[in-house]
Amino acid sequence: MKGRTAAVLLAAGKGTRMESQVHKQYLEIFGKPLLYYTLCAFENSSVDDVILVTGQGEMEYCQKEIVEKYGFAKVKTITEGGKERYHSVYQGLKEVKDCECVLIHDGARPCVTAEIIDRASLEARTYGACVVGMPVKDTIKISDKEEFASATPDRRNLWLVQTPQAFEYNMVMEAYEMLMSSEQNQDGVTDDAMVVETMIKGKVKLIRGDYSNIKVTTPEDLEIAALFLKKYCYDTVPPETG
Ligand code: C5P
Repeated sequence: MKGRTAAVLLAAGKGTRMESQVHKQYLEIFGKPLLYYTLCAFENSSVDDVILVTGQGEMEYCQKEIVEKYGFAKVKTITEGGKERYHSVYQGLKEVKDCECVLIHDGARPCVTAEIIDRASLEARTYGACVVGMPVKDTIKISDKEEFASATPDRRNLWLVQTPQAFEYNMVMEAYEMLMSSEQNQDGVTDDAMVVETMIKGKVKLIRGDYSNIKVTTPEDLEIAALFLKKYCYDTVPPETG
């Protein structure tokens, strides 16, 4: 029998680039908070347990106004995150109980689907570690400090990395324990794959997600996410607006 799968769902960011008083995970699309759509995808997936990581002082709100209100039965634990994303991930990982694999997902990616989640979960069992992403469509430039182009990497090898990022639990926990105890500068730790790559030299497989699996970061992303949700996720959009 396959081991259980947990998901750490990150919703502890302040979303300063959204220019809104309301944290971005609670901004509404079709009358429901963005986090509702993300949780729906996990509820409809093969994941067994969800650990929801919220901002400071937001646990009760999330429990009552999101988890209980919409009946998300897989949310077994709610915990508070930390200053940076990797602090929040570590808090979430510490709450995972008896799971073979763990998926780490940005709550701010509401257009993820159960199909992507299930595929990531399966591939993590094959490769030990995998991240969802898509090959880049644009040419990417590396800039110098004065914002002049200093290099143009070969586009054929470049991917946009998304979440979920899926791992054997013991592997990712070992990498995070090393990160948290290391003295080295942790600025620039922006995803979980790089923690596994750098801390324990783990090999991370890139698997295809979807160009619609965007992270809602700036105001226009909210409108784009609404378009994708309407088009691809009929089951999660209320009937009167879908
Ligand atoms: O800041 P960024 O856009 O990279 O955030 C990605 C995800 O990580 C978001 O879902 C956000 O809520 C979460 N996050 C977090 N704790 C932080 C910073 C970000 O849970 N301290």
